[in-house]
Amino acid sequence: MWVAVAVLMGCSSVDPAAVAIDQVSDATATTPPTSETTTTHSSTTIAPTTTVAPPLDADGVARALVTETDIVVPVLATVDEGFVVRTPCQELALVTAGEPLDRVHVVLDPGHGGSEPGAVGSNGRTEASINLRVAEIAQAKLRSRGFAVLLTRTSDTRVPILTRVEIADNLGADVLVSIHHQGGGELPIGPVPGTEVYYQQESDDSRRLAGLLREEAIEELTPFDAGGWFAGPDAGATYRPDAETGEDFYGMVRRPRTTAVLAEMSFLGNPIELELLGTRQFLVAEAQAISDAVARWFSTDDAGSGFAEPSFSLTSSGGGGGLGGCEDPDLGAVGEIPVDFDRASVGGVDDSG
Ligand SMILES: [Zn+2]
Repeated sequence: MWVAVAVLMGCSSVDPAAVAIDQVSDATATTPPTSETTTTHSSTTIAPTTTVAPPLDADGVARALVTETDIVVPVLATVDEGFVVRTPCQELALVTAGEPLDRVHVVLDPGHGGSEPGAVGSNGRTEASINLRVAEIAQAKLRSRGFAVLLTRTSDTRVPILTRVEIADNLGADVLVSIHHQGGGELPIGPVPGTEVYYQQESDDSRRLAGLLREEAIEELTPFDAGGWFAGPDAGATYRPDAETGEDFYGMVRRPRTTAVLAEMSFLGNPIELELLGTRQFLVAEAQAISDAVARWFSTDDAGSGFAEPSFSLTSSGGGGGLGGCEDPDLGAVGEIPVDFDRASVGGVDDSG
């Protein structure tokens, strides 16, 4: 029953407009190529990327579900009546319809959503909407290279951090990229984009992915220069420690077992960048950077570049993404969890941020 789940997943979750915007054919999703030489790379310093998406090791065990209402949820158990899932707000539910997935290579996480818009530009454009658009385009690009890719949300929906992390960890994804854009306030202007990519302090794999993403972002975005980029003190590939614990500050970096990075691609707070973010070319370029970085992480030993020492630390509070006031979306066809289901076996909630 699960043989074609990756294909089903692909058909349901790619926004056709996102594909059209980038002229990426989705046809390859049904017959993933085993290799592809990327010819779109404009760099003279970075060799063209030969992409080989590794085998998925699919085993037919459902680990995530895209509901018929297009909500992505972790599957905790499969029972006769359907799938026991964790809802976005970390409740248990029985969902009886949807498209199950057992494995993916890549989880892309469009930050924020729903009642948590993230940063908001002076024109009212929300970070959440831009994050989603970039993620959709990056998904299409990675799919065209043979990768199985899942987004943690496909609509303007609030999904707490715990659930985003559980989706990636449950699936055993190879990498998780959380996509963000900063507000920024008043920042110095720099000669190259101030893209910040935060990695997991304890993970060389995460650090390498961050360096590759920073490198690709500079490569793809710098040609759009229209008078200066916001560049904060943490521009580069870096980590951000919690001032109290020393652990990684961001939940999307600290919590996953999955190799993860959090990328602040560009700045809504800079009028120049905000205008660029209103163009499809710039969003496509950001997505290209993400796609190229992930593909290189899989298929090369390249180290990446742009590493920077952390400039300051923060304390864990008030960043959003928690469960307070969370309201679950419609999950489509649902039923009752069997009375004999062992709820204790599927873990509880730790909402410590
Ligand atoms: Zn954000």
